[in-house]
Amino acid sequence: MITLGIESTAHTLGVAVVKDKHILSNEKSSYTTASGGMIPVKLVEHHLEQFSNVLDRALAKANIAIDDVDVIAFSQAPGIGHALRIGATLAKSISLVYKKPLMGVNHCIAHLEIGRHFAKAKDPVLLYASGANTQIIAYDAGKYRVFGETLDIGIGNFLDSFGRYLELGFPAGPKIEELAKKSKKYIELPYAVKGMDVSFTGILTNLSQKIAHHKKEDLCFSAQETVFAMLIEVTERAMAHCNKNELVLGGGVACNKRLQEMASLMCKERNAVCFTPENQFLVDNAAMIALTGEIMHRAGNKTTLKDAGIKPYERTDDVKVNWR
Ligand code: AMP
Ligand code: MG
Repeated sequence: MITLGIESTAHTLGVAVVKDKHILSNEKSSYTTASGGMIPVKLVEHHLEQFSNVLDRALAKANIAIDDVDVIAFSQAPGIGHALRIGATLAKSISLVYKKPLMGVNHCIAHLEIGRHFAKAKDPVLLYASGANTQIIAYDAGKYRVFGETLDIGIGNFLDSFGRYLELGFPAGPKIEELAKKSKKYIELPYAVKGMDVSFTGILTNLSQKIAHHKKEDLCFSAQETVFAMLIEVTERAMAHCNKNELVLGGGVACNKRLQEMASLMCKERNAVCFTPENQFLVDNAAMIALTGEIMHRAGNKTTLKDAGIKPYERTDDVKVNWR
């Protein structure tokens, strides 16, 4: 069975081909800026301009023609409406022209499924740390449940906004990681864990007030140490509460080596296994959409043309999981 996956929840327009759970290609084009953040109208232009090129590359690398595809999977939720609409419209068009069934996929669940696939993990907790999303997710009683999450912005948005104050451009996460490596000086910042949830906007305000008085390397180091510790704290509590001993990382922020190190250390201390997929499967990617689309299709799920509208606000635990 061959599945074409289309990802377009935010900055990344991706197309991938998966055959019987083997990833044959995983192509993408991501919107970036030299300064400032994401502009939705520019995002639409980028995705539309890049689609045919990314699609051609994905098909060529997989060595298949579009006619060989059995299912068209696309990221239907959650995300930026402008971006989601592009992917959904392209998926629907291909489905209509080539008479292929559609499979709408929840992007957060796809991060978990691809981590579970590569880790060969049975029942992991997912620390999903991306631009717009920050959630601790685990399977329980027919759904992927959210055991902890951000109460305001995603951790990546936090890093990108802080980076904008430092004029680092978008995305700022990797640049903050590089600057942080040059410091070991911790500057006290607020630590915002509330029950199982985390909050970043207060820390962002606090950092913005400190920019004039401290070296940016020290602020980057301190920001990372603080917010990553918050994530690891709630992740550990979720693992203890659910009695699970596997952790999978997902989302672009999980590319960060310091976060990976803290996650591994926490897992080691509780005799758990920590798995980090390759960077290309941590960031937004179409392979995870195709893979999850295949799994869902095999479980008998269907997305009719009528049901293929975008769901920008769908939550991880809105989806009934009938494939586990
Ligand atoms: P995603 O939305 O999952 O594609 O992830 C994008 C987010 O990941 C952006 O906010 C980036 O700034 C962030 N990011 C990417 N690489 C790193 C890194 N090495 N350290 C921290 N954040 C990162
Ligand atoms: Mg993502």
